[in-house]
Amino acid sequence: MHTAYDDTLLIHAGRAPASFGGLVNTPACRASTLLVPSYDAWMRSCEGGNAYGHYARFGTPTTRAFEDILAELEGAHGAVVYPSGLAACTHTLLAFVSPGDHVLMTDNVYGPTRSFACQTLARLGIEVTFFAPEEGANVSARLRPNTRVVYVESPGSQTFEVSDVPAIAAAAHQHGAIVLMDNTWATPLYFKPFEHGVDVSIHAATKYMVGHSDAILGAATANERAWPTLQAAAHSFGQTAGPDDLYLALRGLRTLSVRLQRHCETALLLADRLQEHPAVARVLHPALPGCPGHAFWQRDFTGASGLFGVVLKPAENVEQALSVAFNRLQFFGIGLSWGGYESLALPIAKPARAVNPWEDAGPLLRLHAGLEDPETLWNDISAALNAYAEAREPALG
Ligand SMILES: *Cc1c(COP(=O)(O)O)cnc(C)c1O
Repeated sequence: MHTAYDDTLLIHAGRAPASFGGLVNTPACRASTLLVPSYDAWMRSCEGGNAYGHYARFGTPTTRAFEDILAELEGAHGAVVYPSGLAACTHTLLAFVSPGDHVLMTDNVYGPTRSFACQTLARLGIEVTFFAPEEGANVSARLRPNTRVVYVESPGSQTFEVSDVPAIAAAAHQHGAIVLMDNTWATPLYFKPFEHGVDVSIHAATKYMVGHSDAILGAATANERAWPTLQAAAHSFGQTAGPDDLYLALRGLRTLSVRLQRHCETALLLADRLQEHPAVARVLHPALPGCPGHAFWQRDFTGASGLFGVVLKPAENVEQALSVAFNRLQFFGIGLSWGGYESLALPIAKPARAVNPWEDAGPLLRLHAGLEDPETLWNDISAALNAYAEAREPALG
């Protein structure tokens, strides 16, 4: 389990009733200009070397409240916000790389981050290559004299391999590279990146932090070494986030722990039963022994969230069989994103792989276990997969 201290922190951090007429919640502060009381105060605010520091682009009490909780939960030196999770991924990368540098990236990285690296970073003269998520300390062999960043995501949000993050980080540091990690799946409650060698932790707050599918928001936190570079880049790029989205994320954080516990229990129940379902080839859930890297999950994580994968048995008529199955779903929604209170199911295209090709012949589905009654969800997904099994013409060979 995560620590009891985290549970209390989620409720009490980032609140200042005395500053807001007794309000329990830090309000959504709408601001551009922040006034100072005098000429002297203005001149003093310029002394920090940044005359624009006193401006709402750099944060309001709402921004600070969210950044403070996040940094404290994750054990970071500081936190910055971005208008989306993807902006957090891309601008964190941009903070640390220059033309001529090399970025080594995990092969199970979030698709849009992969596209950004292969297209935009490549256009800026930054080399990008990939390592297999199971390589661990062997990534040393892929590090180059100009490797500046090693980018990990564990588990991958479509294929769920868990990496040996401490071993990868140790190899990267020995080489003088910095370690960025997309920690969205585990949230700061279930994986403490800075205790496992990570320098910068990235979050799509859109997912479990907001938790109600009603806002898009990103964040990154850093240790003391990486913080000045991360913060300077975020300021230089003009990164900020709107008050309503920050407010929704703050509100979501208050219940993160109880929500995650339920997401975790229901996902495990479904994943466990799905292993026995006649339509299923394998279940990809970091907390189940069959998942690649399960031992690292057991060693390094204190919980599992509600998102996992299912590989179905192959079918000759796969499109038709999937269509029958998905159209049967009553309670699982079909759509992108995850981490909200509601359950989702999604067909996943064959994962892009630069190192080891994806070998499963059957289709990959991603499920998000929401907060509905677990047995209702089981009936829904098992009926849909029964329909797949009935409609399926077994693939030859
Ligand atoms: C959703 C997601 C993102 C991007 O977040 P947005 O807020 O949708 O831009 C980044 N990384 C992972 C692992 C995600 O699941």
